[in-house]
Amino acid sequence: MHYMGLMHEPPRSEMFDDVYFSALGGLEETRHVFIAGNNLPENWQGRDHFTICETGFGTGLNFLTAWTLFEETAPPEAILDFISFEKFPLKPEEIKNYLSPWTHVFGGRLDRLCSEYPLRAAGFHRVVLSPRVILTLIFDDVNEALPELEADIDCWFLDGFTPSKNPEMWSETLFGHMEKLSTSGASFATFTAAGFVKRGIEQAGFEVEKVKGFAHKRDMLRGVFKGQRQGRTQKFRKISILGGGVAGTACAHVFRQYGLDSILYEKEDSLAQGASGNRIGLYNPRPNALRGAASDFYTSAFSLALRQFSKFDEIDFKPCGALHLITDEAKQKRFSKMIENWCWQDGGLQLLYAQQASDVAGIPLEQEAFFLPQSGYVSPSKLCRAYAGETEVKYGTPGRPGEDDSDVTVLADGIGVKDIFPDFPVYTVRGQVSLCEENETSQGLKTALCYGGYVCPAVDGVHVVGSTFQKWLDHCDLLEEDHQANLDHLTEAVPALAGLQAQDGRAGLRVASKDRFPLIGPAGGGIYVSAAHGSHGLLGSLAGAHLLADMLRGGPFSLPKRTVKALSPERFG
Ligand code: SAM
Repeated sequence: MHYMGLMHEPPRSEMFDDVYFSALGGLEETRHVFIAGNNLPENWQGRDHFTICETGFGTGLNFLTAWTLFEETAPPEAILDFISFEKFPLKPEEIKNYLSPWTHVFGGRLDRLCSEYPLRAAGFHRVVLSPRVILTLIFDDVNEALPELEADIDCWFLDGFTPSKNPEMWSETLFGHMEKLSTSGASFATFTAAGFVKRGIEQAGFEVEKVKGFAHKRDMLRGVFKGQRQGRTQKFRKISILGGGVAGTACAHVFRQYGLDSILYEKEDSLAQGASGNRIGLYNPRPNALRGAASDFYTSAFSLALRQFSKFDEIDFKPCGALHLITDEAKQKRFSKMIENWCWQDGGLQLLYAQQASDVAGIPLEQEAFFLPQSGYVSPSKLCRAYAGETEVKYGTPGRPGEDDSDVTVLADGIGVKDIFPDFPVYTVRGQVSLCEENETSQGLKTALCYGGYVCPAVDGVHVVGSTFQKWLDHCDLLEEDHQANLDHLTEAVPALAGLQAQDGRAGLRVASKDRFPLIGPAGGGIYVSAAHGSHGLLGSLAGAHLLADMLRGGPFSLPKRTVKALSPERFG
């Protein structure tokens, strides 16, 4: 047999004292162990959907090999879902460098993977590479995250570091979940032939065989699941979406990415009439000291939003950074814990001294601040139009579930969900923003500032200062006292901006739920919901749309199970 030889030193992990792939030819090893070991491409012939789960994403070599082969050999309409766990994600520049010997093999795919690579932050990250190839990258310990995965697996690539150096990668949790998540006839392959791995996988219901390993390795393992398990078969193709705000239009856009058709109903005569109509909206994850269902939702959503927003030209997207001013000790504690617990790398979450914060902001600040360098703003109304894109929109009609020939309805019409589900504990909250002409000091402002209220850097000479939060009012008339409240709040937190005056404003009604978390998922009677996006709607609506797409197409979920449960519209029942 001919190997590539030692032309390229393989990348090596110092922590594990092991290589990412064989020095005798990484690509050849992948083809021998994982592709041939899983009887690919034969096993995906005749299939319209095939799901691979990998432990250890590393450089993405296995993924790129499978992706390339799938597009070359699978039926033209077939979809590949590839899920991979990685606790120590490499940087995209490292991946590009390590895989450079095979750039020609992967065509443009290596560049595409690197440009679509998610935020290096703990959690689930969805990357839609084409309507046919969908990657779910889970940056977490496989033992923590595998129990949170909802998926039907047809094929396993077990590729941790060698079991003696990385024993936690070859755990009972892994074997147990191979049994829980495999579909009938699922296959697995791995480079190792360690006895405890073989026994663990046999106990999980696989028939395991030892075959010749790659290059000088004597043995490796492969096998087939003997248990009976049918994956979810529910698949919808044509969807009607009610509501032309950010929740509904995000669904239309995202569904299209997965090849799902939709039609949008908007009761007014244009998009973004309600709470999504503001000229400028901040996107920020909702701060939370702990990691859990909510933080995983906002991490996933933030990671998606950065990649999604940068693809649109006309939405006034500006990742200018946001400084959350630390106005009391409780905030100081919360932000410090958040940095510790959320595990965002690359300086995604930082604490700054007042002087550093002032330098970043471009105006004098008196407090320390929690800094998110990639937060920023977009125009929600322009975003809605960009999202809607080519989707057919029926204006002037609220639409009704079951009224047209679609398979399923998604309610994304804010408080309109109450017409169909009157018992949902959702309510409107009035919010008025003030528009203020910039002055000499405020011209210097480079980042968004958040302090309970918020102020954005001037766009076309105008700052947006927000926002009131009034559960007890349900009208959208501008109130002078609300402008005053916005400006008082601003002046108290940022005395340097005391001179700003409100020239105009906009009031809207946002929708929130009793527990301040959105409602996303099936709501009974074949109806799905994406609602109650409240104040973090630019992020929540996008992650919500991906989750709904997964539910409608029968794919793996892009969010952990605990998050899906916390979002369920049925949670209040
Ligand atoms: N499949 C990869 C490729 O195509 O480049 C190579 C994977 S490398 C042999 C093993 C990977 O497992 C490393 O990237 C390592 O960081 C990751 N890893 C080690 N322990 C882990 C754990 N407990 N949970 C998740 N990933 C882990």
